[in-house]
Amino acid sequence: MLPSAPTAPTAAPVPLAGRVVVLDPGHQLGNARFPGEINRLVDAGGFDKACNTTGTASDDGYPEATFTWQVAVEVRRRLRALGARVVLTRDDNSVAQWGPCIDERGRIGNPGEPGPTADLRISLHADGVRSSTAHGFHVIRPGERSGWTDDVAAASEGLALALRDALVGAGFAPSTYVGDEGIDVRTDLGTLNHSDVPVVMAELGNMRDADDAAVMESDAGRRRYARAVVTAVRSFLGA
Ligand SMILES: [Zn+2]
Repeated sequence: MLPSAPTAPTAAPVPLAGRVVVLDPGHQLGNARFPGEINRLVDAGGFDKACNTTGTASDDGYPEATFTWQVAVEVRRRLRALGARVVLTRDDNSVAQWGPCIDERGRIGNPGEPGPTADLRISLHADGVRSSTAHGFHVIRPGERSGWTDDVAAASEGLALALRDALVGAGFAPSTYVGDEGIDVRTDLGTLNHSDVPVVMAELGNMRDADDAAVMESDAGRRRYARAVVTAVRSFLGA
């Protein structure tokens, strides 16, 4: 049998080539073991706030830190396949580690910081509200805070809308208990206040709601979240 003719290599489409995305998977799995470190006060944007918190968990013990880590890794895989460079604000999900603090999470990828300058930052979280009617996602964008967020507030609103629309498009319901049509505006979050690139924080669902938690705890659910985040990145970047 003759060897088949070699096929000409075809270049894979890389619509996000040259783009840099910071993903911030909220909390670290070990934060609860390091109360001294995570309760230390840091600058959250002209005022002091704790370095970090433990995050929440589902009623059957699936931690927010693990959920956000797993979604972030899947988003990273997909963005890399599209040619993007992806920076995570923590290197792993470990009970032996804590942090980083919210100020560092907000600065990684800023112009002038070590490493590549990001086109955008998405902080991934999940909420923990004990209410039988509280479910769904909300996307938090930075409000205007003079000297802190006034440079990125307008662009961040566009990113928030892109992420809200992508989550709705992927079948997720906007929050029943906070924000307006899935979007909230806050000026008290260090991760948002420290960012000098467009930034949003997504509370992807309520882990204390059984239905939301079931989606978060499933591979299929996490892949659906990840697809929505990638859709939002592409939409925001026009790619
Ligand atoms: Zn959180």
